[in-house]
Order: sequence, then C-alpha cells, then structure tokens
Amino acid sequence: MLEARSVTFLADAMLGNIARKLRIFGFDTLYMAQAHDDEILRTGIKQDRVILTADKELFKRIVKVGARGVLVSAGASELEDLVHILTENGITSIGMNGVGSRCSVCNGHLEKRTSDQVKNDDGCNNNNNNDDDDDVIVPDKVIACHKQFFQCIACGKIYWEGGHLKRIRALVRNLDAKLVGRDCTTTSTIPSYGDSSASKG
Ligand SMILES: [Zn+2]
Repeated sequence: MLEARSVTFLADAMLGNIARKLRIFGFDTLYMAQAHDDEILRTGIKQDRVILTADKELFKRIVKVGARGVLVSAGASELEDLVHILTENGITSIGMNGVGSRCSVCNGHLEKRTSDQVKNDDGCNNNNNNDDDDDVIVPDKVIACHKQFFQCIACGKIYWEGGHLKRIRALVRNLDAKLVGRDCTTTSTIPSYGDSSASKG
C-alpha cells in the first residue's frame, strides 16, 4: 500500500484538470462538477476537505463559515495553480511516493496487476460503468512491452508505465523544484504539461 497523502481536496466544477492532476499525484480529490455551492460547502466541511474553487463568491462563503479552501486564480497557468494550492496547504514537496496510486478519472485506488491479469481474452467484466470501453482494453503490443499494470478498483480503468507517467514524473519534478524555490518568482521556461522527452511508442 502506498503512503496516503495527508491533505484531501474537493474541486468545484471549473477545476476538473486540477482535480485530475491532484489525483495522479495521489491526493484524495473529490470532483463535484454538478453540485451547488451549498452542497460543496457541506461536503467539504463534513469530509474535512480543502475546497478548491475559482469562484470568489464561493470562496467568501468558505472563509465565512470557517471551512478550508483555496481560491484558485483561473487564468494563471495550471502549474502556478498547483504550486499555489500546495503551498497554501503547507506542502513543500510532492515526491513520487503516491504518484500513480489513484485513478485520475474517478479517484479510486489503483491496484497492481500483471500482464496476464489485464489481457483481453478472458472477457473480464469490470467495465460496468465505463462510458469509454477503450479504457479497459489494453492493446496487445502494450501487454507485450510492459510487465507492470495498475487497475482502478472502482471503475476498472487500466494504467501502465508509459509516456504518460514519464510526463507526470517530469511535472512532479518541476513542481517540487518550484515548491522549494518558492521565493524565486521567475517562471521563464516552464514547459507546458507534456513537454518531457516526447518519445512516442
Ligand atoms: Zn477509476
């Protein structure tokens, strides 16, 4: 079992991408795309989650009721948003420990699978509520090239160590460097997400 992250989040409708990234980093992150502000507030307080919103009115209410929250400045870069969120919560390093422990789609936990377990020929019916069947089909060539797989125990989505995870690691390194050097305000050459050594398989 990978080490659990201590801070948990609740992202509102505007922050889907941020929610996905936080999940990939291993943070327990609820994403409430359809909820009203009242419900978001209630859930955040009840579950002791840090509410992330770009909505100033909602943030005012968060402050007023003494809930935990971060006002995310929509319009800044995603990297800056993440640095801001993490800094506000006293997180000075993400590290690789929890990376890849959660499903970016549904926040479920990932469990290790072998290539035999993710082969497509046994009609494994884990894809009940998946709107995209491709998520649970692993191409044969991927199975041939990879030994280690991960599967979401909630939605069945299968992940493997590929270019995607390389980019995530690059992003984590980038973030950690920025978290450490928080005083340094120069952000001259931040590669956009996915700019690591782009090698397509
Ligand atoms: Zn999932």
